[in-house]
Amino acid sequence: MVRFTVLASGSKGNSTVVTGGRTRILVDAGLSCRELFRRMRLAGEDPETLDAIVVTHEHQDHINGLAVTARRLGIPVYFTEATHRAWMRWLTPRRQMSYAQWLEQCRKQAAERQAEATADEGEPEDAAPDDAAAETQQNDAELPSVKQDPTWLPTVEYFQAGQPFAIGDIAVSPFTIPHDAADPVGFVFTAEGVRMAFATDLGYVTPNVKTQLKGVDLLLLESNHDIEMLRDGPYPWSVKQRVLSRVGHLSNEAASDFLANGYDGQAAYVILAHLSESNNLPDLARVAAERALEGRASLLANRLLVAEQHEPLSTIYF
Ligand SMILES: [Zn+2]
Ligand SMILES: [Zn+2]
Repeated sequence: MVRFTVLASGSKGNSTVVTGGRTRILVDAGLSCRELFRRMRLAGEDPETLDAIVVTHEHQDHINGLAVTARRLGIPVYFTEATHRAWMRWLTPRRQMSYAQWLEQCRKQAAERQAEATADEGEPEDAAPDDAAAETQQNDAELPSVKQDPTWLPTVEYFQAGQPFAIGDIAVSPFTIPHDAADPVGFVFTAEGVRMAFATDLGYVTPNVKTQLKGVDLLLLESNHDIEMLRDGPYPWSVKQRVLSRVGHLSNEAASDFLANGYDGQAAYVILAHLSESNNLPDLARVAAERALEGRASLLANRLLVAEQHEPLSTIYF
């Protein structure tokens, strides 16, 4: 059974569960661990059975609950190396340091961890939380290494855009997207012959993205903002420029243009995602996409859904 559940989508947090065969993957962890688990249970998914987390890019709305969730479940996190580095820098911003200094620090921390692991063997567990206010500290209290290294994860696996790999029964094909992050990617996941594509957080649809999105059964596509609403909206000028740029976000207009002119119309489901709460309305995004799909939407093809920020979307079964 292949299942696809969007737990949250938008600038306040993104996360989706993809299940295929015996494997269950969390794509991005943009909500707190507690909220992710709550929403998974709400959607009938058991968080304890997650096998891995894959990360599209290091923006906060995609990684907020990453470390706590990975540690709590003891599961691997799949990044590109540049995204992993950027994520680590985001977690350790206190000191300004050169790249060489930072590398040196990483080496020292690794050596300390090694020494600690050796010293700790056979000793009773040190479980003395000093401050349990933040969820991170609470959950990490029993892991001594986390106190010294907030970037500690149970396992880190690297992948590269353009190089497919597998996690259990799910084939993962990452591709580069144009966005203002270190090394952002979209994904096509394949399980039991079902292909599910992720394309959010992209400034425009590149020719390669267009190619990647062909022949998919499910298309999760960004429809971030209405251009007029963004122009007239509350964001400062610099942020508006960023969102509108070639490394920003897809507007309703750009998503529709792709659906009308670049998309092959083969998906059973089209999910509009990453809608801005300040600069978009679900109805605007939906109407624009419906127009673009024209007569191609039916009960069997191009069923149009809009992913939400505050509650999970009903699970899609294949
Ligand atoms: Zn985002
Ligand atoms: Zn982003």
